[in-house]
Amino acid sequence: MFNLILFGPPGSGKGTQASRIAEKYNMAHISTGEIFRREIKNGTELGQRVKNIIEKGDLVPDILLIDILRSALEIDAKPGGVIFDGFPRTLPQAADLDILMIDLKQKVNLVLALEVNEEEVVKRLLIRAQQEGRKDDTEEVIRNRMAVYHKQTSPLIQYYEKQGKYKSIRGMGTIDEIFNGICQVIDKARG
Ligand code: AMP
Repeated sequence: MFNLILFGPPGSGKGTQASRIAEKYNMAHISTGEIFRREIKNGTELGQRVKNIIEKGDLVPDILLIDILRSALEIDAKPGGVIFDGFPRTLPQAADLDILMIDLKQKVNLVLALEVNEEEVVKRLLIRAQQEGRKDDTEEVIRNRMAVYHKQTSPLIQYYEKQGKYKSIRGMGTIDEIFNGICQVIDKARG
């Protein structure tokens, strides 16, 4: 089992790359953003609770995340391990994940960050807004999501550096180029 956190700001290409990694290494791809979008679409109680928060580009309260994650891990288990896409996003979430992994007799093996500059990210997100019509892809909301990333999510870099798990690669270039770079790092970490 190899458990990977794919890390990076909104629009860094985590989702696209996570799907490809999942396929190649037979891993479960857990995207908390996707889980929330599905809940909203299905009009569930959870969906109704998080809809406004997500549309503003703010973070869903930490307390809601860990149960969602626990059940996603149960439902989605795959022999290769797990890719976390969009989780954790705060220090308390990272601490909760550490505890959950101990519970499951697992660990996070690698935190791999995709480095992209902010202007590129905003450009990509605006294109995605036109293509997919995501409600949280307007320019104002995108700027808020970047601010939220810097304030609440980027402290995780230090958290995982301290654990010796953090690696970053350039997230610019073609999807194939980036994917090849990711695979090299994963192959090395898997040994
Ligand atoms: P994403 O698809 O990962 O960009 O997530 C879309 C939105 O879902 C985010 O902007 C947050 O509002 C919410 N979300 C997703 N994952 C998390 C998380 N781990 N913690 C808090 N909110 C989250």
